[in-house]
Amino acid sequence: VAEKETLGFQAEVKQLLQLMIHSLYSNKEIFLRELISNASDAADKLRFEAINNDSLYGNDHELKIKVLFDKDAKTVTISDNGIGMSRDEVISHLGTIAKSGTKEFFSRLSGDQQADAALIGQFGVGFYSAFIVADRVTVETRRAGADAADGVRWESTGEGDYTVEQVEKTSRGTDIVLHLREGEEELLSSWKLKSIIRKYSDHISLPIEMKKEEWDEEKKETVVKDEFETVNQASALWARSKSDITKEQYEEFYKHVSHDFQPPLAYTHNRVEGRSEYTQLLYVPGHAPFDLWDRNKRGGIKLYVKRVFIMDDAEQLMPVYLRFVKGVIDSNDLPLNVSREILQESRDVRVIREGSTKRVLGMLEEMANSDEQEGKDKYATFWKEFGQVLKEGIGEDATNKDRIAKLLRFASTQTDSPDQTVSFADYIGRMKEGQDKIYYVTADNYNAAKNSPHLEIFRKKGVEVLLLTDRVDEWMLSFLNDFDGKELVSVAKGGLDLGKLEDEAEKKEHEETETQYKDLVEKMKSALADKAKDVRVTFRLTDSPACLVADEHELSANLVRMLKAAGQ
Ligand code: ADP
Ligand code: MG
Repeated sequence: VAEKETLGFQAEVKQLLQLMIHSLYSNKEIFLRELISNASDAADKLRFEAINNDSLYGNDHELKIKVLFDKDAKTVTISDNGIGMSRDEVISHLGTIAKSGTKEFFSRLSGDQQADAALIGQFGVGFYSAFIVADRVTVETRRAGADAADGVRWESTGEGDYTVEQVEKTSRGTDIVLHLREGEEELLSSWKLKSIIRKYSDHISLPIEMKKEEWDEEKKETVVKDEFETVNQASALWARSKSDITKEQYEEFYKHVSHDFQPPLAYTHNRVEGRSEYTQLLYVPGHAPFDLWDRNKRGGIKLYVKRVFIMDDAEQLMPVYLRFVKGVIDSNDLPLNVSREILQESRDVRVIREGSTKRVLGMLEEMANSDEQEGKDKYATFWKEFGQVLKEGIGEDATNKDRIAKLLRFASTQTDSPDQTVSFADYIGRMKEGQDKIYYVTADNYNAAKNSPHLEIFRKKGVEVLLLTDRVDEWMLSFLNDFDGKELVSVAKGGLDLGKLEDEAEKKEHEETETQYKDLVEKMKSALADKAKDVRVTFRLTDSPACLVADEHELSANLVRMLKAAGQ
């Protein structure tokens, strides 16, 4: 038998523990939600592993979560018969933080409690939130399939270190015992615990059980019985009918599946019937995760088949440009033993992905076209957080390109602000008489775009120009030639044809000027022979003496700069 060992927490865990206890105290009830959420995940994992190995259940097939308390010992215990943890798993899961972007997250903390509390909320705290109410936490766990003698006890006071030792554990799964801090005694009440569970964990599909309490007429007090009762609805939330689900329940479910602390911006819940049968409950988060740009990151959709959890992050269920969407898809058609490889080829999955994409775009359109300020604000938040990702859809999803184009927002010479708020429709609504093109300029940043010499003639004529400064813009534009029949034209390219915007008198004047300067232009051309392809008299500039332009069919200056930066 291995000796009891004392191990130190990863530095980030220590930081997180400290911060959490102080900054999340005002919201301390969430510890129960987090621990129940983990117990539910553990049951999902067991169900999944047992699809191919039924013996993992032993003689205990009914998955459930129990919440117990002991007034004398001042403990609250959350107990599950899920997958459990081996010794190695305990050490890696309860001693370190595996989340990607962890280092970056900690470097962003400022020491200002309020600001940091908001950040932690975005990061998600999980298991360690137990220390908000407990000054000592004991975990006893046994992995499904392991012997009773191979249980593991983990214990910590949430300071620098923790202990692990091998123990005998008769049942499968995990018990988390919270030794409450002084002053947390109100949690030692059936009524209090039940009300927290109903508030935050009602959506959990497993039964959450507590001991029954009954009024004893003789003793004139409530006594705790040895019987259990289920205190939540214990059915998969997405399988319930919409009219039975409150907004709060939808939001709490979101927090459970996304490991996010903040409510989502929007959600859509549908049961699809017909050739392919599935239920989708999809959410748009309110903020970007820390690893939005991680190319290896998988999507945020949990796949269930007939209510059985199959996998997290089933990336085939959502196109890459919608990778920020979180939620659940429950298919009635896929086989239980479906693998990632099968998902890749499945016709059912393709149908689900197409259907889900349409739903998500619909959800975004609803926010974008909302008449109410709340909806508008939500879309502005969405765009700020995820707009750059959505732009990838222009190149990636030819079928929905037009819908996505309508959702795009830009900075513009009209608004004089770096905020991206102008849609193509807004732009078209403001077009000048005789204008038949949508003009834009690309640059590294807003100031460079705004001060581009190419804009001078447009300012003079009062013609609006979109200012495109995101990294993905050049790439996106290579897939977007027009919107609503109006050509998209870079103001920095080619012999700019202002079309009907140029009046006859101006044209004549320009021609005269060109002849006047013909000799000078020829001289400059030969002087710059190896540096410039052409030299032209221009009428685009009103203040600057000269500017460089790209050939109509050449890469723009900005793209050349980007490719150079990327080492091409
Ligand atoms: P998250 O749930 O976001 O992964 P947590 O901090 O809540 O983060 O939990 C960390 C990890 O500890 C979980 O991913 C899981 O592997 C493990 N874990 C926590 N609670 C349990 C449990 N009751 N049963 C099995 N594993 C658990
Ligand atoms: Mg968790």
